[in-house]
Amino acid sequence: MTVATRSGIPTMFRSTRFRSRLEARWAAFFDLVGWSWVYEPFDADGYIPDFLIQGEQPFLVEVGPCITDADYITKSAKAAIAFPITAATVGAPGDEVRLARPEHSVLIVGVSPEYARPGWRGTAAGYWHCSDTGSEPLPGFWFHCHVCGNPAVHGNPKTFDMSPCGHSSDYPHRPYGPRVLESAWAEAGNQVQWRA
Ligand SMILES: [Zn+2]
Repeated sequence: MTVATRSGIPTMFRSTRFRSRLEARWAAFFDLVGWSWVYEPFDADGYIPDFLIQGEQPFLVEVGPCITDADYITKSAKAAIAFPITAATVGAPGDEVRLARPEHSVLIVGVSPEYARPGWRGTAAGYWHCSDTGSEPLPGFWFHCHVCGNPAVHGNPKTFDMSPCGHSSDYPHRPYGPRVLESAWAEAGNQVQWRA
């Protein structure tokens, strides 16, 4: 009998053994949306980031079985300690409070690449990690980068440009089509389907 532990069922995909099927599904999804990834790229302080997404604006990804806001925030705790984002006031007291840029930005992703809440203007891939002393969690909204044409997420605390491509623009990128994300996620699931 296979017991699905909290960390999931180890799954092979593209010659890589992932700790969980959910991680393998994200790897397949990254391939389908054209993102170049490295699994468990290095040992950080107290934990190992699940993925590095490469590009002009690289970032780390942490995968968890997140469904609710609370799940995403709980999952971000280790990244927040390793790569803190702190609120820093720029200028005189009373001026705008800005985020001090972390050494690495970490996007926390959950059980689907489409996370949306009432009132949001878009669909998020997940939440950027936050500091429990400083910042609010920032949704990483999906966009269709009109410079390179690739799917990208916004709100990377290190840059605020599109990630991973790094393009910025004077006029807005349009939200990425949910049907593209849906079909890529479905196909990713097919590619890593569990077989007894
Ligand atoms: Zn781009």
